[in-house]
Amino acid sequence: ARQVALSAVTGPGSTADGYAVPLLANVGGPHDVAAALEYGAEGIGLYRTEFLFLDRAEAPSAAEQEAAYLEVLDAFPGGRVIVRTLDAGADKPLAFLPPGEHEPNPALGERGVRLLRAHPEVLAAQLTALAAAAARSAGALRVMAPMVATAEEAAWFAAACDAAGLPAAGVMVEVPSAALRASDLAAHAGFLSVGTNDLTQYALAADRQLGALTGLQDAWQPAVLDLVALAAGGAAEHGRPCGVCGEAAADPALACVLVGLGATSLSMSAPALPAVRAALSRHTREQCVLAAGAARAATGPEDARAAARSHLPGLA
Ligand code: PEP
Ligand code: MG
Repeated sequence: ARQVALSAVTGPGSTADGYAVPLLANVGGPHDVAAALEYGAEGIGLYRTEFLFLDRAEAPSAAEQEAAYLEVLDAFPGGRVIVRTLDAGADKPLAFLPPGEHEPNPALGERGVRLLRAHPEVLAAQLTALAAAAARSAGALRVMAPMVATAEEAAWFAAACDAAGLPAAGVMVEVPSAALRASDLAAHAGFLSVGTNDLTQYALAADRQLGALTGLQDAWQPAVLDLVALAAGGAAEHGRPCGVCGEAAADPALACVLVGLGATSLSMSAPALPAVRAALSRHTREQCVLAAGAARAATGPEDARAAARSHLPGLA
């Protein structure tokens, strides 16, 4: 019966008092589009493009890239599709683009936008394919960069997108320095998108791939909540949206807290959408703000969760 009740809430994401929070899906390629549509995603908040480059010694052709981007874009003609440029390195090593030297600490290595700067031709080819797909589709394509740590990197990426004819490029906030100086990044970016998986890893200095450290890999850690609030606040200073696309957005209580911290959209793996949609619909924005404040006032993740839930009575 609960299953039925959750899926009964349909339509665009919104709090009980009508504050719109677009609910978007994370996808890894065209193969994930069906699920995103089935669960009612309003668009794509994170298109991980790594799949195109997996198991290959050479870059995929321009035509192959364009087709893979166009297929996802065309599935959301009325919505937005945020494509993340190649995020190779660390937990996503690619034979196609290895780091320049042996890395004792791959998570702290030449990954994401750092690797794209070392290989600007790879980014240029990807942006050209993205611009070609955007020109052929009614969908609103936006591009964002992974692993941005400084305003200078954000400016470099925005300039590369601009040169390719792609408007309002965004940057991910998944490194503490990016959250701490979010306003500096937002000065160059069309939007920010918080990646809580990596942001948690770097805030707690806990490798996201180590089972022994899962207790620290918890986005309810108040330090992570503080960083999300800083990211949203920095974006707001420039009138920029700030979404969350890490898996934290898939936890219904935490989704409400993220909205209370200032997140303007939430993106998650598609099956999580109905429960998050239902949780938001049962609480006002004010309740989300109170839940966020209570969570940040806690000193640990369990207390943060309990404190937030005391302001979210509509959760099961
Ligand atoms: C993140 O780090 O939270 C994120 C969304 O990106 P990925 O999980 O692909 O690293
Ligand atoms: Mg990440």
